[in-house]
This record gives sequence, structure tokens and C-alpha cells, in this order.
Amino acid sequence: MIEIENVSKWYGAFQVLRECSTQVARGDVVVVCGPSGSGKSTLIKTVNGLEPFQQGVVRVDGISVGDPKTKLPQLRARIGMVFQNFELFPHLSVRENLTLAQVKVLGRGKDEALERGLKVLDRVGLLAHKDKFPSQLSGGQQQRVAIARALAMDPMAMLFDEPTSALDPEMIGEVLDVMVGLAQEGMTMMVVTHEMGFARKVADRIVFMDHGSIVEDSPKDEFFGAPRSERAREFLARII
Ligand code: ADP
Ligand code: MG
Repeated sequence: MIEIENVSKWYGAFQVLRECSTQVARGDVVVVCGPSGSGKSTLIKTVNGLEPFQQGVVRVDGISVGDPKTKLPQLRARIGMVFQNFELFPHLSVRENLTLAQVKVLGRGKDEALERGLKVLDRVGLLAHKDKFPSQLSGGQQQRVAIARALAMDPMAMLFDEPTSALDPEMIGEVLDVMVGLAQEGMTMMVVTHEMGFARKVADRIVFMDHGSIVEDSPKDEFFGAPRSERAREFLARII
């Protein structure tokens, strides 16, 4: 579903991605971890065209993201992305947050969009909050709305960039529960996170990055059982 082949990116003279290659098969969950500044956000954002890159190929469902002929807005509409800071529209109610892109980007009718929006809102346990504004919700609730908003678009894959790292500890679980549910239902997911409990539970593979390189790309059990690189071992020792 997601193919990243030999991707390199530079900011001026600084190389932020170094010949990165990995794949996410349909229905798989790949967790990306590594030290701060190692290039995780940059890598995941190449998948939906939010970060251009100078070398290599990224394909989603066979469509090349970097090809100038690819219609990025259309491709992006089919890839859900959830960020660290929720990024809901603050001036719109929950229900409007859930329906706006369905109507504007997918061309759905208002009733259809609302029906779909309320269904995914129910799924993340927040139906009762449909008429609230983001500022009236906790961080955990806002992030669940952000996930619901992405799901309302019926994405073929979901990208998460540290979805729980801005949350108070007591709210992390409710967001991870929603993500675990998605993973268990077979959603294709690429997840930047340091939540190794989540990784142990649902990841198929772990990608470990350091200084812009993918240092390790292993099945979960191998990664946790016997990380191949010294850097991954040190990293695990620090966060677990
Ligand atoms: P991570 O998500 O792993 O913390 P990032 O992908 O955000 O890492 O960043 C990787 C590196 O690229 C960092 O060293 C960061 O400072 C650098 N970087 C990110 N964005 C820019 C930018 N717009 N210009 C220059 N350097 C950047
Ligand atoms: Mg990051």
C-alpha cells in the first residue's frame, strides 16, 4: 500500500533523509520510532506529499507521490493524517469539523456527510459532543475527533505523527484504544510514536530511525527481542 524507495531529502546542505526505504503492506501497522530530530516526521510526511524530497520514489496504492502529474489533493484526500497537535478547525463545531472535507473534497451531500461523520464520532465514543467546539473538549477528546475526521473520509491508509505526545498522561490511553481498534480492524497504518505498549500490541514491524537513516526495519518480535543495532538498543533502554 505504501512504498518508500531510496528517499533522500536535503534542507540546503543538511541531509534530513538518507536513502530511506520501507513498505507498509495493506492491513499492516508499521511503527516508526527513533530519537528527536532523526527525520520521523519528515519521512511520514513524504507519504502524503506534505514534504517534497529530492531523490527516490514514494508510492501509495501504486500512485507516485513525487510525480508532478499526480494530483496531490486527490491522493491526500484518501490518506488520513493525524498530527501531534490535533489541528481541528477551532471556529467550527465538532460536526462541522467532521463534514467539511467530505463535502468540499469528496463532493458528498450534506446529509450523507453528516451521517458518516456521526457514525465515526460514535465510534470514537464522542457522539454526545457533536455540537461542541474544539476548545470545549479535552486534548484526548480533540485527538479522537481528529481521528474521526480522518476516518470520515474513508481513507485507504492512516498516518499518525506522535498522536499522543502532546496529551496529558491520563488521556493517552483513550486515544491509543481508538488506534488499537483501527489496527485490529485491518486499517493500514504508519505510526510515529514512542508508545512501545501500542507497538507491542499491534505493530507488524518497527522502523527505527537515526540521523535521517532507517537503521532498523524489523518484525516487532525481533526488534523488541534482539534489536540489531546498538543505537536501537540504547534507544529502547532509555524509553522502556
Ligand atoms: P523527528 O520527527 O524525528 O523529530 P524531523 O523530521 O522533524 O525529526 O526533523 C529532522 C531534522 O530536520 C531535524 O534535525 C530538524 O531540525 C530538521 N528540519 C526539520 N524541518 C526543517 C526545515 N524546514 N529546515 C531545516 N531543517 C529542518
Ligand atoms: Mg517529529
